[in-house]
Amino acid sequence: MSAAARKEPAAMETEVREKIHLEILKRTGAYHANDHILLPSGQHTSEYIEKTLVTTEPSFTEGLGAVIAKHFAQWPVDMVLSTGPGALILSHCVARAHPSRPVVVYGAKGLSGGKRRVSLPVEFQRLIRPGAKILLVEDLVSTGSTLTLLSNLVEQFGALVVGIGCLWRRTSVDLDNRPVFSLVSRDFPTYDPDKCPLCKRGVPLNEEFVRRRHARRPSSVQEPKEA
Ligand SMILES: [Zn+2]
Repeated sequence: MSAAARKEPAAMETEVREKIHLEILKRTGAYHANDHILLPSGQHTSEYIEKTLVTTEPSFTEGLGAVIAKHFAQWPVDMVLSTGPGALILSHCVARAHPSRPVVVYGAKGLSGGKRRVSLPVEFQRLIRPGAKILLVEDLVSTGSTLTLLSNLVEQFGALVVGIGCLWRRTSVDLDNRPVFSLVSRDFPTYDPDKCPLCKRGVPLNEEFVRRRHARRPSSVQEPKEA
């Protein structure tokens, strides 16, 4: 960063930083902007993010993880905790770049009686000691429910959440004033089709993401049956 850029007001710096991070996400193919997109809900939007693609470029993920680590560098961290494959890749990069050299552990997401749950493998449990300082890492925060579950898990062990680092958070999501650092804080504007300004301007509607959702099936292979 140039000396001139450092002198800009903090708000401007945040805006520039967000633009850079959005550009990085765009290059992974995860972030789509300046489009007119049909969402599965039937609403229209000009922006879209494909969660699965967010952490596919190791050098980008490492760079973004280092920015999060730098933000929390002044606090000692014993452990970085996350859940979900994308968040785990990012949490490794954050832990690697943090001066405390924290360990990385991860919970498993699941459903129990229709309710979301996060559970911690037995082998990790002895690593969370009472009073341990824990940094939570998430890739995209859309409702905050995963972070609430992770926080509750940490509290069960008498440990402390020192902060939450994420790539993207929706600005409208309420995180109970917890210390969150997000590389991008942004809501997608969504519109009912009859009130959509892009429709009014006659911009062609991109139905690719909804079509892909209906048509796609994960690829899979399996071992041959025993003869
Ligand atoms: Zn529209």
